[in-house]
This record gives sequence, C-alpha cells and structure tokens, in this order.
Amino acid sequence: MTSSAPLKINGTTEIAGVVGRPIAHSLSPRLHNAWIRALGLNAVYLPFSPTETGFQRLVQGFRGGVIRGLNVTLPFKAEALALADTADTAAQEAGAANLLLFLSDGAIEARNTDGLGLLYAFAQQAPTWRPDQGPITILGAGGAARGALATLKRAGARDIRILNRTRARAESLCRALGGTAFDLTEAGRALDGATTLINATSGQLQAEFADKDTLPLPAQAPPGAVAMDMVYAPLNTPFLQAAAAAGFATVDGLDMLIGQARPSFAALFGQPPPELDARSLCLAPEDGS
Ligand code: NAP
Repeated sequence: MTSSAPLKINGTTEIAGVVGRPIAHSLSPRLHNAWIRALGLNAVYLPFSPTETGFQRLVQGFRGGVIRGLNVTLPFKAEALALADTADTAAQEAGAANLLLFLSDGAIEARNTDGLGLLYAFAQQAPTWRPDQGPITILGAGGAARGALATLKRAGARDIRILNRTRARAESLCRALGGTAFDLTEAGRALDGATTLINATSGQLQAEFADKDTLPLPAQAPPGAVAMDMVYAPLNTPFLQAAAAAGFATVDGLDMLIGQARPSFAALFGQPPPELDARSLCLAPEDGS
C-alpha cells in the first residue's frame, strides 16, 4: 500500500491524534496518516483543538482505551505532563510532555520525544556535529529550550548557555538543569566561541530577527559551527539566513518535527514508521486528501 491509498475506517479502527491550539497548521496528521496508509494499518490520526480550558476534560474523557494516544503541542505540553499518571525521564526533565499514551487500565503515560527529534535533526542535516564539540548557546528559556538543555546534557554536552529575554526564566532553568544563564544585554558573552546555536524562541521573534542589527549572532562562525532553528514555518527562517551568512552550517526545524513523530508513531501503533520521504510529504502542497 502507498501513502496515497485511502484510510480504512470501520468498527475496529484505532484512533490517535494531536492536540494543540491552534492546530490547523500542524503537519502531524499529514505525516502520521501517510505512514498509516503506507503500512495498511486500520487506524486514523486526527487533530483536536479544545478551548484553552478544555484540554483537561478532553484528556480525562479519553481515559480507558478510547484512544491509543495523543501528541501534544502548544500550549498544552506542561498541562499534559501534570495530567499523566506516569512519565518517562525525558518528560520529567523537560517539565512537559509531547505524547500521552492511554493505557487499557485507564492510566495515562507521558513521554517527551522532542529531544530525540532535536538529535535526529542534527544527525540528518549536520552529520559530523557532536554535542560535545564546543559551547552550545540556546536562545530561549521556555519548554522547548528546557527539553533541549536536558537532552544535550544527557548526550554529552559540557558547556550550555541559556540566552533569554527574561533573565529570571533563564536562571530558573539553569538552577534546575545546569547551564549558564544570560540575558540579551549579555549576548556577546553568551555567544563567544559557541559552536552550536539553537533558536528555541517562539515564532513572534522571527520578525525581530529579520532586523540584522538586533540579531544576537556572532559576525563570524567558528570552524565547524552549526546553527539550528526549531521553527519550521518558514523553513529557511531569518535566523538561519543570518547564521548562514555568518558562515554557520544550518539545520532547520522540519527534521525535528519528523524526528519526534517517528518514536511517537512507534509508541502509538507498535511499529516503526515506514521509510517514506517524510520531508517531501510535509512540504507537498495540500491536496485535500
Ligand atoms: P515558550 O515556552 O512559549 O517559550 C518561548 C520563548 O521565546 C521564551 O524564552 C520567550 O522569552 C522567547 N520569546 C518569545 N517572544 C520573544 C521576543 N519577542 N523577544 C525575545 N524572546 C522572545 O515556547 P516553547 O514551547 O519553548 O517553543 C519555542 C519554539 O520552538 C516555538 O516556536 C515552537 O513552535 C518550537 N518548537 C518546535 C518543535 C519542532 O518539532 N520543530 C518542537 C518544539 C517546539 P521570555 O522567557 O522572555 O518570554
């Protein structure tokens, strides 16, 4: 069966999905349903977008074998962890879950596969990069930065700097997980000698990054330096454009999305996804199927 074959829907169809607000932009249904079709599974992967206060009711309503599981995206990742009965180390360290598994006894297990996605993105687009190759500067101190810090420390990174608009948030993150906190007035020190830059700030910042004067980037990349942006819409963000101009190799956020989806699919459906060209699937124009 191919990724364009129709989904089977009948009385024994297994259900999984993704929950977020907004959700219409999410590429997860496209990706997971293509994998489902290619494997010929009797399953479907749906988008859910409850009101801001409706997430808890949605999750509690799915307890007891109604649904296999849910990927979770903004703004519900921390709440997802809080609602779960058990959590893996990655979710505990990140303080957030991007995957909830609904077990047949009614329990909910939280996992976080975003860190695996981050490492997958580097492996795909910068295969010679190593977490311990030099200082790492993460821009941002929200949930994604927290997960990245935990993942990179576990992968062997030794010098991680958190550069954030709000210093208190960077300090709180570094107190909890290690690393050195900086605010934007200290960007020069935070970036000095960094051979890995990761933009983990949210989308609004992209417009500000288009102004090269306020962009916190070194003028010249050290040898072997790599810049990664977690944002994938647009794919070639102003941050990545400026980093490339300064001589950084670049890694975009789309492979992080694919790299978190792969272990999510395996956990939801009990088998790894098929080897389709996931990037092309995500980048293809919407065909309404
Ligand atoms: P979050 O918890 O809301 O954190 C947002 C961060 O961005 C904070 O550090 C915030 O600084 C900073 N920020 C926002 N606007 C800013 C501005 N105008 N100037 C300076 N700093 C600003 O969000 P998150 O969950 O960590 O997600 C961060 C990004 O990663 C999002 O764009 C998300 O879509 C992306 N992401 C991508 C993937 C993927 O698979 N590719 C996975 C996870 C997340 P303050 O602390 O000062 O407010």
